Amino acid sequence: MDRRSFLKTSAAGTAAIAAASVLPGCTSAQKAEQKERDAVELKISFQEGTAPGASLAEKFDFMENLGVVGFEPGGRGLLGRVDEINSALQGRNIKVSAICAGFDGFILAEDPEVKAIFDKTMREIIVAAGKIGSTGVIMVPAFNGQLPCKPHNQETRDYLCAQLHELGEFAKNEGTTVILEPLNRREAFYMRLVGDAAAIARDADSEGVKAMGDFWHMQEEVSDYGAFMSAGPKYLQHVHIASRGNRITPGEDGELDNYVEGFKALKDMRYDKYVSFECGCKGERAETVTAAVNLLRSQWAEA
Ligand code: MG
Repeated sequence: MDRRSFLKTSAAGTAAIAAASVLPGCTSAQKAEQKERDAVELKISFQEGTAPGASLAEKFDFMENLGVVGFEPGGRGLLGRVDEINSALQGRNIKVSAICAGFDGFILAEDPEVKAIFDKTMREIIVAAGKIGSTGVIMVPAFNGQLPCKPHNQETRDYLCAQLHELGEFAKNEGTTVILEPLNRREAFYMRLVGDAAAIARDADSEGVKAMGDFWHMQEEVSDYGAFMSAGPKYLQHVHIASRGNRITPGEDGELDNYVEGFKALKDMRYDKYVSFECGCKGERAETVTAAVNLLRSQWAEA
């Protein structure tokens, strides 16, 4: 046997051994991974205005019938609603997903009084969020219209991270988190990308600081998949969803309302938090939100 044919035979032999020993193992590992991915549950949540109904009880009945398992109340006056919410949820298969803002002032305010109002009202909401078992309280560092605002520079970013560290530690101690929500540039230029929010959360260096993505604002992103994956399971704590043309109910903008790429990322990262409706509604509410839930379930299955 010359050197060339020896190499040929031994390479083929090595490949055959590799195929025999690695492939069956590889297949079962892939199967296990596929099974794990298929088991990732789409946990749908509604904000308070999403379900029809005159009371929390009526809304929760409607949601339970649809298999909606999360509830996202607004933060305003939340401390005074702790007992009302806890008793309305008792015995139901619905949990508080997240709290949607509701504080006064803002964290990047130049005016110390406005900042102090933020600190006070945000902490009250965080305390209430802990008492109702919320994954976190959603916040935006500064809307475009909130002025005077600290300038968008390195010093402000460092300040923001330091302030968020304190807030995150406070939230962690209350059994919850603060969740940074990036918005589109028309609403909040400061933080527009899921990856940017996650990087700020990372640099805040507190387990109590997280990030989220909102499919509506994610018009800023190059890729829904990339956006969620850039935060990953360590930082992605919540997701908002709306139709993608007019911010009404998913499905009301027809073909535009495709969430499959984003859902693929959520499945790939084994996302175990909520996808929460934050949207208007053009059609008859009960009918429209029911169709939306069915649409999301079919796109989740496809992803
Ligand atoms: Mg949102």
